[in-house]
Amino acid sequence: MFTIQIFINRGFVLFEHPETAKSWQEAVVLAIWALPGIRRYVGDQCVYQPEPILVNGEWGYIRKSTGWATNCPEIGRRLSKTCKGDHHHVKTEGGVIKRAEIYSKRLVAAILGGSSKRFQNPEGTQGILLLTEEGQCHP
Ligand SMILES: [Zn+2]
Repeated sequence: MFTIQIFINRGFVLFEHPETAKSWQEAVVLAIWALPGIRRYVGDQCVYQPEPILVNGEWGYIRKSTGWATNCPEIGRRLSKTCKGDHHHVKTEGGVIKRAEIYSKRLVAAILGGSSKRFQNPEGTQGILLLTEEGQCHP
C-alpha cells in the first residue's frame, strides 16, 4: 500500500507503532525504510493529550512513546514532541494504554497541520495514507 501511495499517488504515508514495539524489526516494517524520503520520528502522546484522565483513582497523562515513519517531514516534526516531565503520568498496565489508541484532536491537528504545509507546496501531493499499530488504514 505504501509503495502505491508514494509511487503512483505521489502522496504521503504515515506509519505509527509504539516506540518500543518489536514490530519495528519485522521484515514488512523494515521494507518501509527502503521507500524514498522515509524517516523515523519519536514523540510522546501525553504532549498531545489535552487534559489529564482518571485511571485507577489517579489523574494523569498517558506517556506512550510513539514511533512514526513518514515521508512528510512537516508531519514528522510535529509528531516529535517529547514530554518535558511537567505533569503526572498514569500507570499503563491493565489495558490503560489502549486509551491512547484514539488520537486526540491535538494529535490529529499535528498530522493535518503538517500535511497542509506540504499541500501548499506547488509540487502538490495526493493525500495521506496512515497505518496504525492495529493495522488500520486511513486513506
Ligand atoms: Zn508526559
